[in-house]
Amino acid sequence: MNKSRQSLIAGNWKMNMSVAEGCALAQQIVSQAATVSCELLLCPPAPLLGFVMAETNGSEVQLGSQDCHFNDAGAHTGDTSAKLLADIGCGYVILGHSERRADHGETDQQVAAKVTAAWRNQLTAIICIGETESQRDAGKTLSVVRAQIAGSIPPGATGANTVIAYEPVWAIGSGKVPSVNDVTKIHAETRTAFAEAAGAGEAELVRILYGGSLKPENASEFLALEDVDGGLIGGASLKAQDFIGIASSCP
Ligand code: PEP
Repeated sequence: MNKSRQSLIAGNWKMNMSVAEGCALAQQIVSQAATVSCELLLCPPAPLLGFVMAETNGSEVQLGSQDCHFNDAGAHTGDTSAKLLADIGCGYVILGHSERRADHGETDQQVAAKVTAAWRNQLTAIICIGETESQRDAGKTLSVVRAQIAGSIPPGATGANTVIAYEPVWAIGSGKVPSVNDVTKIHAETRTAFAEAAGAGEAELVRILYGGSLKPENASEFLALEDVDGGLIGGASLKAQDFIGIASSCP
């Protein structure tokens, strides 16, 4: 088993938390960060990034955004550039989350352009892939995941500038999770597809996260798998006890 890749536990706060709540949550996580061996990442809503940064400064806890624009500046009302995210101290950006693909019609091509912007600004891109329930029921999971990898990851991907998050859409926020066998198979296939795009050496280094209804109660069985290098956590990232509980399950 290759667990030489340091596990990453990333919290996607989505559109949740007030300033006071976000700061309190970040403080609680920072105070417990030394109890876990994995890397911890917080991805709050954009207006909270500066406030959360004030809490994580000087700690090992990393900060990331939930999206970025594909340009570095310009007339793009409401958008945030990867350049500015890097400037304020972010190290990561989540791209192609299924909620952005659904709510904003983001295509693989647009996700790939944002990934390029992230890399251009030295941000690590967390690229989300995953099938819908109807695609799963039609037996198309592997072909969907392969197509998203081919379409969303531009040339130049490395194990350092990219993290892949496999998130079955039907498992997000639903309390439902795939079987351990399915996650084993899909993560192995994801690594193979990444190897075809970026080479076998980079594929050994790239971290592949599982996301979708991870909780402290179910995290161990997924995080122990050879090709699962951590988790992207939504709901359970909003409580320090649950987030740290999941992080504590990393082998
Ligand atoms: C997510 O939205 O990335 C996610 C994994 O959500 P949840 O943990 O709530 O299923």
